[in-house]
Amino acid sequence: MDNCIFCKIISGEIPSSKVYEDDKVLAFLDISQATKGHTLVIPKEHVRNILEMSAETAETVFSRVPKIARAVQKATRAMNILNNNEEVAGQTVFHAHIHLVPRYGADDGIHMGFDEHEPDFAALADLADSIAKEVTE
Ligand code: 5GP
Ligand code: ZN
Repeated sequence: MDNCIFCKIISGEIPSSKVYEDDKVLAFLDISQATKGHTLVIPKEHVRNILEMSAETAETVFSRVPKIARAVQKATRAMNILNNNEEVAGQTVFHAHIHLVPRYGADDGIHMGFDEHEPDFAALADLADSIAKEVTE
């Protein structure tokens, strides 16, 4: 797709530090290196994010993630695997990508957390039900 930085990386128009490539998937080092080894795994097919991904493309991309993650991860067994969908969730490049972020310790510069809420089991049941009804092919 025109004007997509990751499509340009796939075509070779923009250089990247590749760690894995096959006919459908490319993995390369993230330019920002949140931690050493920070890698992006992308489908060669241009798709905006996981919310717009077909099951087939998801299968293709995610099936490669474990072996790439194991290769990236030689120094430590710890790694966060992350994905952002849409701007509010932190997506800045609108060609789907999975972040592999090796973790080295509490002071490695990665800070993640979730606010926790007291469980309301009736509300959880209702919410699960309403989401379940929306699951389609
Ligand atoms: P997002 O915020 O969309 O989840 O992640 C986009 C990522 O792409 C960022 O971590 C950013 O550092 C990386 N990135 C943006 N432009 C380039 C580029 O030209 N080359 C590489 N290798 N990574 C890039
Ligand atoms: Zn693209």
